Amino acid sequence: MLRRHFARSYASSSLSSYCLSASKNHKCHPIKKHILTSSYETGHNAFFNSNTRNLSVCVVGSGPAGFYTAKQLLGKECQSIFGNEPVNITIIERLPTPYGLVRYGVAPDHPEVKNVQNDFDQVASDPRVQFIGNVSLGKDVRLKELQELFDVVVLSYGAESERTLGIKGEDLQGVESAREFVAWYNGLPSHTKEHTAEKFKNLVQSSKNAVIIGQGNVALDVARILARPVSTLKPYDVTSQAMHVLENFNSNLKHILVVGRRGPVQIAATTKELRELIKLNCLYADPTQIQDEYLDEISKEQLHKEGRVKQRLIQLLQTAVVKPSLPDNTKLVELVFFRSPVEFLPKKDDPSRIGSIKFEITKLEKDPNGDLEPKAVGTGIFEEIECDLVFKSIGYKSVNVDPEIPFDLKKGVVVNEHGRVVNPQTKHSIGGVYVCGWLKRGPSGVILSNIYDAEETVESITNDFSSGALSRSKNDAHTKLVSKLQEKNISYVNFGQYKKLEQFEVNEGQKMGKIREKVLHVPEMLNICFK
Ligand code: FAD
Ligand code: NAP
Repeated sequence: MLRRHFARSYASSSLSSYCLSASKNHKCHPIKKHILTSSYETGHNAFFNSNTRNLSVCVVGSGPAGFYTAKQLLGKECQSIFGNEPVNITIIERLPTPYGLVRYGVAPDHPEVKNVQNDFDQVASDPRVQFIGNVSLGKDVRLKELQELFDVVVLSYGAESERTLGIKGEDLQGVESAREFVAWYNGLPSHTKEHTAEKFKNLVQSSKNAVIIGQGNVALDVARILARPVSTLKPYDVTSQAMHVLENFNSNLKHILVVGRRGPVQIAATTKELRELIKLNCLYADPTQIQDEYLDEISKEQLHKEGRVKQRLIQLLQTAVVKPSLPDNTKLVELVFFRSPVEFLPKKDDPSRIGSIKFEITKLEKDPNGDLEPKAVGTGIFEEIECDLVFKSIGYKSVNVDPEIPFDLKKGVVVNEHGRVVNPQTKHSIGGVYVCGWLKRGPSGVILSNIYDAEETVESITNDFSSGALSRSKNDAHTKLVSKLQEKNISYVNFGQYKKLEQFEVNEGQKMGKIREKVLHVPEMLNICFK
């Protein structure tokens, strides 16, 4: 019941063009301009009532999952459940900046996707919400402390690590993670130190052939950022540090292979992202891997079952069978299927550096129950592909930031049932703690997916409230948290202070003819916030 209502209210809300990358069944509306008049501008929220017995909620992590959870808790449907006294929400965030991967993951040349920030700003400017940036769960504050202060804690701190292949040679120089590269060109403070810039400069400069392992949308983002003429990136918010490297040192790079362990029908990337590479006139795939007559029986059956969206994707891919005559300064991006990496091999003249990858050629095997997608199995036939640079793009991974959190290390998620964090043995709720987003379901799904995920978590919260399992028992939660942080000498940033940083970045960007110029280091960010 609750879920249906949320779905309706979102369909009619002013969600921005992130919908472009999401389900086609969802109606998108133009972005409503709104004026941020809230007291966050002063940093003091006069309406934030910390003295009454409101349900106090702490959301940990300010990416899409955290913001959509907050948005739904503030919604009418929830208010009718919580009663007259509104919910008060404190969002804590490790960085001085909100928005998670919308700021530090979404490709800079997809600025329309980042417009979803307008929706999040509306949430942050609600009088019932307080943002506290530069505060890390696990480091500055413990889960136990939050549980003592707040009625509800929602963990939504995303996935800040990555999966590894666990094969020989993974530590060779030049075997890099796509996550790290993305974080670097997007200006994530932990990834913008001089040595990271120097590393990518040296690698890009000395590379002719790059291989990306994995064929998801992150792999295509990385391929596109490397392949497109650098001059076309200038208006976007690629950091100046990364632009300098791409502009001056990537002219040797000619060929980018994007390698998948399964076939074209199982490709994880979506039509929109493939179309972009086709439009850049740089995508190629061997006809014997993607033309209808070469598809294996399992793929043909899957294609038939999955219907039009997948069929269109394959038709689109099939337009890439003619090797493009590359426009100036564009690099060839080639999709290669049915190859699973088994070992990274060093260069003959430099044993510390990647020289080639040994792949096992694979074929598909059907799931015996027919429930899951077919998986790749080895054929015992191997192939070596020479390269100077590798980006592993096989998925992100969440980490456990506090020993009190029940964490499934194998799946890389917080142990939960419908968003309710539970003891792994007893399956009983650990009391007032919930989880949402990539931390809850694993590192997949677009921004929009987090709306549905938040719906489920919020439904668990409201059900627990209605059943009496949750109650309003904690007073002055936000004020007490702030006092705690002050006692610990932790400099935190409120939303108004973050907005000063945003304005600074936009102004700096304007001077350079780009959307914004991100500030790269936390101390500098804090100086601007506290000016
Ligand atoms: P996140 O967005 O990662 O947010 C987690 C937040 O928690 C972060 O702000 C982080 O700083 C904070 N945090 C971490 N640790 C702590 C801590 N200890 N204490 C406090 N806070 C903490 N989807 C699209 O629809 N379109 C796209 O174009 C698109 N591009 C993408 C590009 C990349 C490279 C990636 C990786 C994903 C992309 N996605 C895209 C998917 C989308 O970004 C995710 O679905 C979404 O960001 C997941 O939301 P989340 O809130 O779970 O995690
Ligand atoms: P992903 O979509 O899950 O893709 C991961 C890729 O890695 C798949 O091709 C997978 O192959 C491969 N892989 C995994 N383990 C492997 C192994 N051991 N060996 C070889 N290959 C392996 O993950 P992602 O690209 O990181 O994206 C994460 C989420 O963010 C996705 O939901 C994505 O759609 C979203 N996102 C969206 C956009 C956008 O909308 N523009 C941009 C970026 C990211 P298999 O399929 O065989 O497992």
